[in-house]
Amino acid sequence: MNKLQPTNAPVNLGRHRRACSICAHAQCEDIDAAFIAWRSPAAIAEEFGLSDRASVYRHAHAFGLFPKRQRNVRAALEKIIEKAGEVDVTAAAVVAAVQAYSKINAAGQWIERTEQVSLNDLFDRMSTQELEEYAQSWKLPRWFTAIAQSATGNDGQE
Ligand SMILES: [Zn+2]
Repeated sequence: MNKLQPTNAPVNLGRHRRACSICAHAQCEDIDAAFIAWRSPAAIAEEFGLSDRASVYRHAHAFGLFPKRQRNVRAALEKIIEKAGEVDVTAAAVVAAVQAYSKINAAGQWIERTEQVSLNDLFDRMSTQELEEYAQSWKLPRWFTAIAQSATGNDGQE
């Protein structure tokens, strides 16, 4: 695998399927669903007995699961809110997540009287490294929470 390959490079699906342990997996659909629901690829690999999380990323890339997952912003926010009791998430991030969740419609669009911010755009702006860190530790980049908070007109004190 060439690591320098751009993530939007076309994938030969036939070739992917022959080499992919997830495509051949009896629970392939469950794995796809877990990925779209923002389960961490490491946790998915462990739960479904996959060799490593890189295979999850390769499979997700081949089937266009990243944009699907990015549109599923509400699931991501639910995860942050759920995880708040288990791991170190900054209070500001949780506050921003709860506020965002209450303002996002089913299409993942931010509904605000004065200003409309699409969280999809924020997730789109995250680098692969930031997404990876988010998947691992639920840490959102500082700029992300800053934008989310300014969009809600809240400085995180309330
Ligand atoms: Zn696959």
